[in-house]
Amino acid sequence: MEYRRLGSSGLKVSQLSFGSWVTFGNQMDLKKAKECIQYSFEQGINFFDNAEVYAKGASEELMGQAFRELGIPRHHYIISTKFFWGIEDVVNFRNTLNRKYLMHAMHESLKRWKMDLIDLIYCHRPDPETPIEEIVQTMHEIIQRGDALYWGTSEWSAKQIAEAYDFAVSNGFHRPVMEQPQYNLIHHHKVDQEFTPLYKKMGLGLTTWSPLASGILTGKYLNTIPENSRLALKSMTWLQEELHQPSIQKAVKELHQISESSHIPMSQLAIGWCTLNPQVSTVILGASRIEQLKENLKTLEILNSIRDLRKELSQIADLNATA
Ligand code: NDP
Repeated sequence: MEYRRLGSSGLKVSQLSFGSWVTFGNQMDLKKAKECIQYSFEQGINFFDNAEVYAKGASEELMGQAFRELGIPRHHYIISTKFFWGIEDVVNFRNTLNRKYLMHAMHESLKRWKMDLIDLIYCHRPDPETPIEEIVQTMHEIIQRGDALYWGTSEWSAKQIAEAYDFAVSNGFHRPVMEQPQYNLIHHHKVDQEFTPLYKKMGLGLTTWSPLASGILTGKYLNTIPENSRLALKSMTWLQEELHQPSIQKAVKELHQISESSHIPMSQLAIGWCTLNPQVSTVILGASRIEQLKENLKTLEILNSIRDLRKELSQIADLNATA
């Protein structure tokens, strides 16, 4: 496992990491979560991604309990959480980054994790109704208080990130260090185009999500939607629209062809392509069972073969150049 700097910070994250969206507290119970965390950790993964909204807080509780029961020393791993959507139907606590919400959300999250601090905290989406000054100052204060170590954004535009960074720098506040965008062979415009000036300006780090586009890039949906898969879940039917887009179907079919001729599973080609981008600090993997995690982690063993196919893979990415 290679460890990469999280942007311009001094923190190093494993090039592959493990996240809990849809899985922890839904498809996975404590036993399965522990099995996956243990395996990830043994393979060198040191970053585990989470969010307040995942399973409405249950994902944080489960991950916290799993780490405690596994007895892994707290300073050996990095965890994250993210705030924006909120989990209580109360005015000021939904779809926001206002100070009242952020302070409360941080406090409640620590209680769920049963931990003293969260390493990375993210503003999960931009909030056009809260001034950037209020957001940056609140993130700064959370870090000053020792509740978190680094802060960043998720799915913000380059302009919004630059504004936050400039305000932090000019006021001596903790700067945003990392962004968490979707990045895969289908969705890559932000990482490959929009954020380019930010890599130089602020050394932006990237913790990227959905390397398999929720499983679409494994080829498992080529003929049908398997019963026990993410796209069959009631809450995830919106993803079926994506699946049926002609340019996405074409990309999946072409990836399938490269997989057939190279004898490398589609999942590993897709994950490998993300990992080979040096701007990416870590590619966050998802898995609903340990067998998937094992297959996905094998990507690292054949990264050089995937490097040789990079040109062909980037041509697939070009089919959805603006996504
Ligand atoms: P992927 O795109 O890799 O999708 C993972 C899912 O694909 C699995 O849960 C599984 O679903 C299926 N899968 C994985 N590996 C295989 C395999 N080898 N063969 C067949 N099916 C496979 O990643 P995620 O979408 O889960 O994203 C990863 C992490 O990124 C999340 O856990 C979360 O931490 C983070 N994230 C952040 C977001 C943000 O807004 N900041 C948004 C989304 C994710 P199944 O078996 O159910 O079909």
